[in-house]
Amino acid sequence: MGLRRAARVILIGAPGVGKGTQSERLLARFPQLSAISSGDLLRQNVKTRTPLGIKVESTIKTGGLVSDDLILRLITNELGNRGWLSGGRQNVMTLASSAIEVAEAYEDANPFITAGSRNPAAGATLSAQALEDPRASFLLDGFPRTATQAERLDEIVPMNMAISIKTPFEVIMERIHSRWVHEPSGRVYNTSFHIPKVPGRDDMTGEPLVQRADDDEKIYRSRFQKFQETSEPLLEHYAKKGVLWEVQGMSSDEISPKLYKEFERRFA
Ligand code: AMP
Repeated sequence: MGLRRAARVILIGAPGVGKGTQSERLLARFPQLSAISSGDLLRQNVKTRTPLGIKVESTIKTGGLVSDDLILRLITNELGNRGWLSGGRQNVMTLASSAIEVAEAYEDANPFITAGSRNPAAGATLSAQALEDPRASFLLDGFPRTATQAERLDEIVPMNMAISIKTPFEVIMERIHSRWVHEPSGRVYNTSFHIPKVPGRDDMTGEPLVQRADDDEKIYRSRFQKFQETSEPLLEHYAKKGVLWEVQGMSSDEISPKLYKEFERRFA
């Protein structure tokens, strides 16, 4: 289905609530939409052993939050790579991973430098063209997680829909136990309701699926608690802007049709 307006969407929900699943489904339904997942970008950096990846590895493993500066840099680079930003230090932004490496090296060599000037994309904002172009539609998954991150994102991109997905804790906990992911693509499976065609293998590539280290129960509880603490001000932030929309359900299948309907009403 085509979009008539550019959709700049944030998915907010506890870890394991099915943001990945909803994101995948929205992407399949609306081809102009693309997803940017902060968790996937971070895991990719960890896997390919970039300086940023090495820096954040232990934080991710223990369920902590990566610093706002690093996350902002990662997301801004991603938007810059798609050619959607204008202003700022564009020359550095064309190469995502090397931009991050340059920034890291710069930061390490200049410990007293301020946060803003450390960002290779400092000052860049969404271009006037991208603002209007439905092809520049995207969905943020896992970012922003705090009101501070949201405020900093506002300086770059005006988001126009924040979707809050709500499912009870016990239901999510049960689901997490049976979650498997295809790491290179971020595709998510579940051994009870979204079963891969071949057990333990990704449907598209046939590559092996893995369970995420941070899906361990104790770590999950800590991540859930952190989400509770930080999401309230985040939801408030978007409510104040008039772009918050809440959806409740026990499963992704219950949530998807409600989500499609509202999404179409706003953008299609
Ligand atoms: P996710 O796949 O979204 O659950 O993210 C996995 C991990 O990456 C989180 O537990 C955090 O350690 C880190 N992370 C992802 N997004 C953010 C963010 N917006 N702010 C801080 N840390 C993040």
